[in-house]
Amino acid sequence: MNNFTFEDMKQIKRTTLGAEVPLELFRAIRLIGMYQGLPSGGKGTTMTIGRKIGQSLPVTSLEELLHLLEELKIGIPHILSTNEKGMTIAVEDCFCEGLPIHEGQMVCDLEGAILEGALSKIYNKRVTAKEIKCNVNGDERCEYELRF
Ligand SMILES: [Zn+2]
Repeated sequence: MNNFTFEDMKQIKRTTLGAEVPLELFRAIRLIGMYQGLPSGGKGTTMTIGRKIGQSLPVTSLEELLHLLEELKIGIPHILSTNEKGMTIAVEDCFCEGLPIHEGQMVCDLEGAILEGALSKIYNKRVTAKEIKCNVNGDERCEYELRF
């Protein structure tokens, strides 16, 4: 199989409809298709997809990664705290902002898995991400705890 690269994704020649798709379509894929359509909320599959995407991102430093996350409109990331064991990252303006609140549910595991994949590659060690806050849960923003 000939693999696609992230660079391939940027080759767009869609003359009438352009390069962007509406957020409601992305939400439908994520929440109706994956979260509701796959067994156990799509947990394992989402992790696999997110890690793979994260590893494919053309970034070599944390700064580049944070910049790309904003460029791709995944969200506006801020590092809240960092130490040798890991870091906490908040993501403002996540795709889930504005959805009805479903207390007890966190739906941005794909973003966490993308962080995992990208940071594992950047630091060349195992990184795990845990979503600890989500707009959908009623929190003020989405947050991830990353452990090295
Ligand atoms: Zn979110």
